Amino acid sequence: MTRALLRPLLALLTLLALSATVLSCGVSRAPSMDPQGDDSFDDDIRTARTLTEEYWKQQFARLGRTYRPITDFVPYSGSAGPSCGDQPAVPNNAFYCPAGHFIAYDRSWMEGLWTEMGDGSVYVIIPHEFGHSIQAQLRSGFQLNVQAELQADCYAGGTLSALVSSGALRAEEGDEDELLLSLAAAGDPTDDWLNPSAHGTAEQRQSSFARGYRSGVDAC
Ligand SMILES: [Zn+2]
Repeated sequence: MTRALLRPLLALLTLLALSATVLSCGVSRAPSMDPQGDDSFDDDIRTARTLTEEYWKQQFARLGRTYRPITDFVPYSGSAGPSCGDQPAVPNNAFYCPAGHFIAYDRSWMEGLWTEMGDGSVYVIIPHEFGHSIQAQLRSGFQLNVQAELQADCYAGGTLSALVSSGALRAEEGDEDELLLSLAAAGDPTDDWLNPSAHGTAEQRQSSFARGYRSGVDAC
C-alpha cells in the first residue's frame, strides 16, 4: 500500500476508533447561556468563532495592538469552497486564507465530526484556524510549516483554557483529555496531518495543545 493511500486510511481508522470513546465532549456554553448544553452545530460554530475573536481582541488590546477581525467566515460544500489565491478549496477541510484574511470550512464534514466526536471538535478546529490568522497579523515567521501548525495548536489550547477560566465555556472533568483526542483525530483538518514532516505527529500536536491549555498563549 502506498503512503498516499495509507494516510487517509489511518486517519479514518483513528476517527472510527475515537468515535466510540469521544461521543460527547461536554464543552458547552456557560450554564446561564445554555443550561442543557444542547447547542446545535451552528450554535457551536458561531460561539466558537465569536468567543475566539473576543479573546484575541482582548489579548491584542493588552499588548497595545489592534486586532483585525477576519473578513469572512465561510461554510462551503465539497469542492465548492472559496479559493485562496490560486489554491482551490478542497473537500473535508477547514482553512485560513491569508490572501483574503478569511476562514472557510466544509460544513457537512465539520458537522460529521461534531456528531461523531462531540462539540470539542469544533472548539479545537475553529480556534486552530484563528491561530493561523493571528500568526498572519503578528507576521510570525516560520522556517517550517510544522512550526506554524504546532503554534496554532498551542494557541487553540490557550484560547480554550482562557475561555473556560473566564466562564464563557464550561468544561467538565476529563474534557482536556477529550479535547486532546479530538485534536489527534481532527485538529488539523488536512489529509496529511499524520505526515511527521508536514504537520507534526499526533503526539507533538497534543503536547503543543496541552502546553497552551496549561500555560496560556504566552507560552506558545
Ligand atoms: Zn493548521
